[in-house]
Amino acid sequence: MKQALEIVQGYQGPTLRIMEVCGTHTHEIFRKGIRKVLPETIELISGPGCPVCVTPVDFIDEAILLATEHGCTICTFGDLVRVPGTRQSLASMRAQGADVRIVYSPMDALAYAKENPEKQVVFLSVGFETTIPACCLTVWQAKQEKVDNYSLLTANKTMPQAYRAMKDACELFLYPGHVHAITGTKICEQMKEEGISGVVAGFTTKELITALAVAVTRFQQGKPFFENCYPRIVKPEGNPAAVHLIHQVMEPCDALWRGIGEMKDSGMRLRSEYAAWDARLKYNLPKVEGKPNPVCRCGQVLQGQCKPTDCPVFGRGCTPEHPIGACMVSDEGACSAFYLYGGAL
Ligand code: SF4
Repeated sequence: MKQALEIVQGYQGPTLRIMEVCGTHTHEIFRKGIRKVLPETIELISGPGCPVCVTPVDFIDEAILLATEHGCTICTFGDLVRVPGTRQSLASMRAQGADVRIVYSPMDALAYAKENPEKQVVFLSVGFETTIPACCLTVWQAKQEKVDNYSLLTANKTMPQAYRAMKDACELFLYPGHVHAITGTKICEQMKEEGISGVVAGFTTKELITALAVAVTRFQQGKPFFENCYPRIVKPEGNPAAVHLIHQVMEPCDALWRGIGEMKDSGMRLRSEYAAWDARLKYNLPKVEGKPNPVCRCGQVLQGQCKPTDCPVFGRGCTPEHPIGACMVSDEGACSAFYLYGGAL
């Protein structure tokens, strides 16, 4: 690792902007102090890879509607509960009596539905390629077992369109290792052909420093490149069984990303064969247009256009205890990483 670190610290070229797309990378880089050892010529930019952060306000409002108007039990990962909707969060609705439960996996939500057939259970299905297979598995199983009191409210997203949307914000990407463990690396090779460079990185200090050293070395060669620096987990073919399950249950759709807007084919929704488990259809939800707090700059943070510390309420009005935007709520959010591990960096 010493040699890799020397390569990174020896970089003297023009400013090299590297976008760590994945929120887990953002937090690990902060937690391990990697930003502190980088030269001024390397700038790390946090990207849109936190699933909670990119989920729009509309989705929170829809979930609240399901809980309040339709009396559904909402099952969700913990972070989402505290994300502000237009007027309320799921946490504040729960305090007012709504049935909102935190689960650790979608299978927990399905199990809860089976144990409580008198309740209508909705799982909030957010996340990228890493979590989509588990969400699909619950719906596939619910159909097999004829569980009709379970459904998904989907806001799942996929990465390729986000990479392309972010390509001008950086010189290269630190691709998320767990996403490409599912999808494989074909998309990264395609991006190289389109002139977009990047390396897949793991999550340990050694893996991150090695990936940065490879990125710096290849960048200086002056041609678009792709390297898989996480080969112990990421295989070129990915996880074919997981990909097959995804395509069996879901299909691509246009999706709204917080701050970025709608991107064609950047989301996943349930196929028509699974319409009975699609909460939007099951409860005939109206089109909801949420309004984020106007002071929040999450949209720009997620696009690498500003740092969390550029937000006027960072660390003052907005803290992890009292978040104004999603990026301060999530364990993978850039604002919470800056707040927890050093806002001045
Ligand atoms: S500090 Fe808070 S209000 Fe500002 S961009 Fe981050 S989450 Fe939004």
